[in-house]
Amino acid sequence: MGSGQVTTSEPFDFQGTHVTVAGLGVSGVPAAKVLHGLGAIVTVVNDGADERARAQAADLEALGVSVRLGDGETLPEDTELIVTAPGWQPDKPLFAAAERAGVPVWGDVELAWRLRGPDAADWLAVTGTNGKTTTVQMLASILKAAGLRTAAVGNIGVSLLDAVLGEEQYDVLAVELSSYQLHWAPSLRAHSAAVLNLAPDHLDWHGSMEAYAADKGRIYEGNRVACVYNVADKATEDLVREADVEEGCRAIGFTLGTPGPSQLGVVEGILVDRAFVENRHKNAQELAEVADVNPPAPHNIANALAAAALARAYGVPARAVRDGLRAFTPDAHRIAHVADVDGVAYVDDSKATNTHAAEASLAAYDPIVWIAGGLAKGATFDELVAKSAKRLRGAVLIGADRALIREALARHAPQVPVVDLDRTDTGAMRAAVQEARKLAQPGDTVLLAPACASMDMFANYNKRGDAFADAVRELGSADG
Ligand code: ADP
Repeated sequence: MGSGQVTTSEPFDFQGTHVTVAGLGVSGVPAAKVLHGLGAIVTVVNDGADERARAQAADLEALGVSVRLGDGETLPEDTELIVTAPGWQPDKPLFAAAERAGVPVWGDVELAWRLRGPDAADWLAVTGTNGKTTTVQMLASILKAAGLRTAAVGNIGVSLLDAVLGEEQYDVLAVELSSYQLHWAPSLRAHSAAVLNLAPDHLDWHGSMEAYAADKGRIYEGNRVACVYNVADKATEDLVREADVEEGCRAIGFTLGTPGPSQLGVVEGILVDRAFVENRHKNAQELAEVADVNPPAPHNIANALAAAALARAYGVPARAVRDGLRAFTPDAHRIAHVADVDGVAYVDDSKATNTHAAEASLAAYDPIVWIAGGLAKGATFDELVAKSAKRLRGAVLIGADRALIREALARHAPQVPVVDLDRTDTGAMRAAVQEARKLAQPGDTVLLAPACASMDMFANYNKRGDAFADAVRELGSADG
């Protein structure tokens, strides 16, 4: 078939199509297998040629898929379609070559979207700089409470390809999408979608804040029922305004304040819906209590409202919103309460890997002894420190880029005592917890919200959070 056919948004026959899969790995290997199974002539290209890549290549070659290791840039001859790993940067020469040749590029999400069957489940999609995983899990919990067959899928464990092609039948999917995935998903059309918030992140990949925002905004394209935005984050509302949606699709805001018509919000400790009710100018529907949200930190209530908005857009009754929120427990290392020691709470938000996330968790406690630092990924800390300064009892800094945070503290919070731990070894976390304990007073919270990536000291944010929790438990047992 010709490449003209590949660009249509309809499902089509892959039989005999030359497809290049860019990148081995979590999305590339299953994509190659599925495409091969559908009769495509598949070539996988991969930059690296390490042991793992060689093993994966051997596995695919045994099936009859060609693999080119050590060259992810040359466009194989005859390519009619590229299916890329979402993380591959758009400025790679491979994509420039594809553009010159008029070859379309799809990501894993686009592939799944095109392969879904005629009676496929609707997609309720979520993106944002922070809170995606939590919101999608809350949404799936609410949909389940409504008796729907559903799963939390996407950038979150269960791949979309598995969800779309597997045995399991779904009514509706709660889909987490990263900005990378959205970049490569030109024809995705969700039932309804939410952009939770928009703060600078991954700018090296997208090239600019505008490009990053534009990719996030793609999630609203073609929505049928609702585009859910954050009233407190005007950039998300602007994206709704710019989106081309189906006739009748509504803009629905969520807010931590009193909701206006077509919004969900909070009134006296109650989550209320003034969007999906009869006569929204006069009426509001009670959905749940703030205390039903776990943990009831402000940013997490915002996540719950976004999840509720998507569920209500899908027609879920109010009762299921409450039951689903009550049944939800957050994943590890996301504002996890580890222990109380000497009247001080120790909270692990190791997943706060950027300043926007750290700002949200710092807003949830007072007073705080803050443990921060790691790899800054080009971030600056002035705004974060200035906004949080009045809640800080003290700060303990670890990691490669801690000087950036120390300098921001000196500029905006000179009164706050700072312990700068001049070390980046794994054992530094134990020392950090011990120093934090010295600074903390009963009633305080010691909060690990690093505002940085973990890879300078740990394999990942999970390991960093585990090290924190271990060190806290040691404090507790030393007392006991
Ligand atoms: P994502 O999947 O977008 O990375 P998660 O739900 O895993 O989001 O949360 C990551 C971190 O972001 C949390 O540990 C918390 O610090 C922060 N966070 C969660 N929700 C929000 C929000 N709505 N606004 C700002 N920060 C948030």
